[in-house]
Amino acid sequence: MARRNKIYEGKAKILYEGPEPGTIVQYFKDDATAFNAEKKDVIDGKGVLNNRLSEYFMTGLNQVGVPTHFIRRLNMREQLVRACEIIPLEVIVRNFAAGSLSKRLGVEEGTQLPRPIVEYCYKDDALGDPLVTEEHIAAFGWASQQDMDDVLSLALRVNDFLSGVMYGVGIRVVDFKIEVGRVYDGDFQRLIVADEISPDSCRLWDIETGRKLDKDVFRRDLGSLTDAYSEVARRLGVLPKNAQVTKPTLIN
Ligand code: C5P
Repeated sequence: MARRNKIYEGKAKILYEGPEPGTIVQYFKDDATAFNAEKKDVIDGKGVLNNRLSEYFMTGLNQVGVPTHFIRRLNMREQLVRACEIIPLEVIVRNFAAGSLSKRLGVEEGTQLPRPIVEYCYKDDALGDPLVTEEHIAAFGWASQQDMDDVLSLALRVNDFLSGVMYGVGIRVVDFKIEVGRVYDGDFQRLIVADEISPDSCRLWDIETGRKLDKDVFRRDLGSLTDAYSEVARRLGVLPKNAQVTKPTLIN
């Protein structure tokens, strides 16, 4: 069997060259990291859950007309995605105060924000993904003004979609992060949602109880991460009611 070309290995995913030009295979690992990889663990089944959940959200976004890189799921841990040039920004949308915003501005966690706040961080692990403004983005040429208008519009459309879908299953989307990529269709370029959308990159709280169903369970040692992610998957109908996430076997 021919060995695949690894393009990149990150903290939670590996990217391989895809079967056709312009495609990439995105493999979801079980590794969990927090605080810029100062805290690390391997959580059995996390990659399988995130592969499924990201498929669910990206498929939904594609269906409502928000373009994403997602093409199709290949197996338990892998999905085929469209290759794109990633804009080096983490785009964060917040509906309620939490995490770094609460710390930075002294706003109590859970406070509803008067409107969604969109923030940008420069993707650089060595620098700890620092918060940047549109001034930095323009000055350093990370994205054009037209790109940033499109990034903002994509981020807010993803927010409306995610918040609505999760409200339907009793979950509040407190905040989330997306990454955006550039693709070229002939002479035109357009921006699409890339990377992943999963409980690793969102804050999800049960609306009734406030229970955290996202990576904060790992960051703050609040119990089983697999239980939390499985709960999200079950509510969305992505996992059958009594499914056990046992150590998965890779098909392929
Ligand atoms: O840490 P902070 O409060 O800024 O995170 C905001 C949101 O962005 C959270 O949902 C977090 O999971 C997500 N995030 C991420 N990857 C990062 C930083 C933040 O997915 N590198």
